[in-house]
Amino acid sequence: NVDQKKTVTSISADSGEELGKQYPEWKAAYEKYGTGISQTVMGVSKWLGDLFLRLLKMVTIPLIVTSLITGIASLGNATRFGAMFSRTLLYYFCTSLLAICTGIFVVNLIRPGIGAELPGGSGSLSSGTESVGSIFLDMVDRLIPTNIIHSLGEGEFLSIISFSMLTGIFIIIVGGKHAKVMTDFFQAGFEVMMRMTMFVISLAPIGVLAFMVYAVSSQGIEIFKTLSWYMLSVFFALLIHSVVILPCLLKFVARRSPLEFARAMSPALMTAFSTASSNGTLPLTMSCVEENAGISNEVSSFVLPLGATINMDGTALYEAVAVMFIAQAYTGVVMPLEQQILVAVTALLASIGAAGIPHAGLVMMAIVLQAVGLPLEAQGVIIAVDRILDMCRTSVNVWSDSCGCAIIERYR
Ligand code: ASP
Repeated sequence: NVDQKKTVTSISADSGEELGKQYPEWKAAYEKYGTGISQTVMGVSKWLGDLFLRLLKMVTIPLIVTSLITGIASLGNATRFGAMFSRTLLYYFCTSLLAICTGIFVVNLIRPGIGAELPGGSGSLSSGTESVGSIFLDMVDRLIPTNIIHSLGEGEFLSIISFSMLTGIFIIIVGGKHAKVMTDFFQAGFEVMMRMTMFVISLAPIGVLAFMVYAVSSQGIEIFKTLSWYMLSVFFALLIHSVVILPCLLKFVARRSPLEFARAMSPALMTAFSTASSNGTLPLTMSCVEENAGISNEVSSFVLPLGATINMDGTALYEAVAVMFIAQAYTGVVMPLEQQILVAVTALLASIGAAGIPHAGLVMMAIVLQAVGLPLEAQGVIIAVDRILDMCRTSVNVWSDSCGCAIIERYR
C-alpha cells in the first residue's frame, strides 16, 4: 500500500476507475469490512451513489451551454436599460467577488480539510508546482477551443464556457430574425434541460442517502466530524457575507436600515431557505421588494430575474469553500495562491452558470474541480451534507439580489 501510494503524483479529473486503481484506500475499505452484509451494503450504496453522480454529469454540460447562451443573449434586451444595466452588472460582479474572497479567507483560516480523511484517498493538485504565469497562460489556452465538439466530448469546461458566452454575445451582435431563432432554440433547450435537471435532482434523496451509507460504512461516523468543519466554514463565511458585508452596502451605499430591509424581505428569505430555489422564490422576492420595501417595479423587474440567473453570492462562496476543502483533504496542505486565484475565477463562472434550483451549485462545481485537477468524484463526498448548505446559500443568493435592488433604486 505504501509503495503504491508513493507512485501517486496527480489526480486526473473524471477518472473513477483509474482512481480506484490509484487509491488502494477504496480497496482497503472493502477488505477491512470483510465479506457479508456490510460489504454488500457498502457495494450497493456506492453503486447507487455513482449512478446518481452519472446522472448529474449527464445533465451538466447541456445545462451549462443552454443556460449561458440564453443568459447572455437575454442581456441584449437588457442593454436598453443603459446605465441601470451596467450598474447592475457591476453590483453582481463586485458582490460575488466579495463573497468568494470571504469564503477563501475563512477556509484558509479554519482549514477544515487539513488532516481530514475522505474516501478516495490522497494525491496532489494537477498543477500545484507551476507558476502563476504558466497557470494563467494555460487557462487562456483552455479558453480557446480549437475544436468545440472535442471539448464538449471531453468535458473541457473552460472551453465550453467561453464558446457559449461568445455564442451568446454574437447572437446579440447579429440581432434581427436570426438572433430570434437562435435565442428561441437555446431557450427551449434550456427549459428542457432545466426540467431534466429537476428530475435528476428529485432523485437526490436517494443519492444523498446512498453516499451517507457508503461514507459511514467505509469511514465510520468520523466522516461527519470531518464534514462538520467544512459545513462550519461555509456557514461562517455565509454569515459574514450576509450580516456584515451586504448590510454595510445597504447602509452606506443604499442608505437604508439593514434591519428594516431584512424584515421587509423576510418572507422571501424564509421561502428561499425552505425551497433551496431562488427561481422558485422569485415571485415572492419581487412582491416583497416592491410591496414591503417600496422599490419600483422598473428596478425589481430588471434586477431580480437577471440576478436569480447570474448573481449568486452564496453559491459562489460555497463553490470556493467546498473545492478548497476538498483540495486540503486530498493533498494535506493549503492550496497555493495561484490555485486559489484559479478557484476564485472559476467559482465566479460556476455561480453565473448555476441555475436557481436545488443543488445546482453542486452540479456546477465540476467546473471548479476540473480547473484545479481534482476528481469529480469528490462531489459524491460532500453531497451527504449539501441540502442544508443549499438552503443557506439560496437565502444568501436572494438576499444579495434584494440588496442589489435597493442600491440600484437609490441611484436610478
Ligand atoms: N439552490 C441555489 C439557488 O437556487 C443554487 C445552488 O445550488 O447553489 O439559488
